[in-house]
Amino acid sequence: MQRYFIKERITDEITIRDANQVHHIRNVMRRQKGDQAVVCDDQGHCFYMKIERIESDSVVFSKGQALPKLNRKFHVTLAQSLIRKDHFELACQKATELGVDTIIPIETERTIIKLKDPQVEKKLTRWQAIAQEASEQSQRNTVSKIAPLMHLSALDFSLYDTVLIAYENEKTVTLKTALSVVNKDSKLLLIVGPEGGFTAAEIAFLERHGAQTVSLGPRILRSETAAIYLLCALSYELEMNRS
Ligand code: SAM
Repeated sequence: MQRYFIKERITDEITIRDANQVHHIRNVMRRQKGDQAVVCDDQGHCFYMKIERIESDSVVFSKGQALPKLNRKFHVTLAQSLIRKDHFELACQKATELGVDTIIPIETERTIIKLKDPQVEKKLTRWQAIAQEASEQSQRNTVSKIAPLMHLSALDFSLYDTVLIAYENEKTVTLKTALSVVNKDSKLLLIVGPEGGFTAAEIAFLERHGAQTVSLGPRILRSETAAIYLLCALSYELEMNRS
């Protein structure tokens, strides 16, 4: 069933006025009075809702049954280095499908896009739109958040219980070993490098802040593949594999 996210609290009757959502309901899905959709607020409360009225610029829904709240305990943030446009967009979409809570686009020594890029605001808006669409498609209860672009050195490590860096030169510690000691209710930060990888100085900086380098296997993965790998493994180990 089609899913829409709104910012306000869901009451007995709500009116969607967002032009994209109204267009989607009216013209793409061609919904009619009496049809149903799922509507979620920004706290992850989702309800079956029935369409009562469709106007040219709004859709009115009445509230039905609540959907069960997902009770996943761990939180995962992906610090994804800026990479080529379509690859970053793919990382946003797939990371959202795989359950990431927040994506922080990061600038590193070897990223090509830099903070002063006048396109940054437009890019953040575009990535958030991709995250919203992927959240709807994958029937999440919340929309993954795209945080403001920041430099690697500005990451706030105090917010996380575990920080893992995907590092191709790590030959001893595998992701599996690192995840085996992570609690199911942890706050995790996963850091993925750009096309050219992290410099030794960056790895030393991250390690000084308690981050653990992990190997994702013997092959060199593209940056976006590394992000997908990390989140697949995390879901397998923490969501699917432990009671
Ligand atoms: N430095 C390398 C180079 O230029 O040959 C490769 C960088 S790789 C394309 C991009 C990012 O993906 C890396 O910075 C790392 O975060 C991650 N990555 C790729 N393969 C990996 C592996 N086998 N183990 C851990 N991380 C990996």
